[in-house]
Amino acid sequence: MQVFDGHNDALSRLWCADGDPVEEFRQPKGQVNLPHAAAGGLGGGFFAIYSPRARQSFDFSALSGGGAGLPLGERMEEGAAAVPAFAQAGIAMRLAEAGLIDICTDAQTLARSFVSNRLACVLHLEGADCIGPDLLALDALHAMGLRSLGPVWSRRTIFGDGVPIQQGTDGDTGPGLTADGKRLIARCRELGIMIDTSHLTMKGFWEVGEAGLPLVATHSNAWALAHNARNLTDDQLRAIRETGGMAGLNFATVFLSDAGWETGDAGLEDCLSQLDHMIEIAGEDNVGLGSDFDGAPMPNGIAHAGELPNLIAAMRTHGYGEALIAKLAHENWLSFLSHHLG
Ligand code: ZN
Repeated sequence: MQVFDGHNDALSRLWCADGDPVEEFRQPKGQVNLPHAAAGGLGGGFFAIYSPRARQSFDFSALSGGGAGLPLGERMEEGAAAVPAFAQAGIAMRLAEAGLIDICTDAQTLARSFVSNRLACVLHLEGADCIGPDLLALDALHAMGLRSLGPVWSRRTIFGDGVPIQQGTDGDTGPGLTADGKRLIARCRELGIMIDTSHLTMKGFWEVGEAGLPLVATHSNAWALAHNARNLTDDQLRAIRETGGMAGLNFATVFLSDAGWETGDAGLEDCLSQLDHMIEIAGEDNVGLGSDFDGAPMPNGIAHAGELPNLIAAMRTHGYGEALIAKLAHENWLSFLSHHLG
């Protein structure tokens, strides 16, 4: 069973690794790489461009064992954010030049690439920190193949507020989109760039819906089962269904269950509980996977992309039929993106 995944952070991992990114991607290091993808049936996914404050691997320690979580980050200066963002876009281009991935900007390329021996990459910007109020960097990123954007990571930008990565509250933690944020979304719409609401506040989420866009959360779970600000309430999951959007199951232990946050420990059964609830409320046509590989602590049984078949096997054991498994594993994302990319 081939998988198309809603979110990975391989590009920022490769940038932080600081070597030749093409050679690095050929090695079985990290959670998404060529050998793990081949072993796990990963055919493609959203590849995030993300601007860390320092060029070093993300420290998950604040996210394991019931810690205080991560407060909402302060704004990152546009120029400082542009360096990693454009370098990671460059890494995607190098991987494409080497024939390892295709940067997919239309439905035909996506469909062809997904069944090829290259990974189908939809370029995503996770937090628009590198874009100024003139929105000019957006045009440059679009020309490089960007087709998905989250206005914020869990950090404040000139476009809006994200949610802190915090337990015990839903996503209603602060203001939504600013006037600049609304202009950004309108420009993304003109350019054919999808808006991702993962990391946005609840207010921001509803404002994206009010703009008439399908509500998409590429890597967020059901709040009913894991009371974290990063997750989606049932009202949000219903709106995703009603607007023809998508929710991608995030594998991060800390977002799967309340116990996962407390202990840093979770397993495949927690993924299945989440999928049951997400399907019940958002519908079986509007749910997919959004692993967060290379960006989060992973549960037992699915440490990296090479172990994706364990999740598929768990779906079968849980009683999901092949048609439903295919929808969750790739069909729903590919169908949504074929409309979006055109
Ligand atoms: Zn994220």
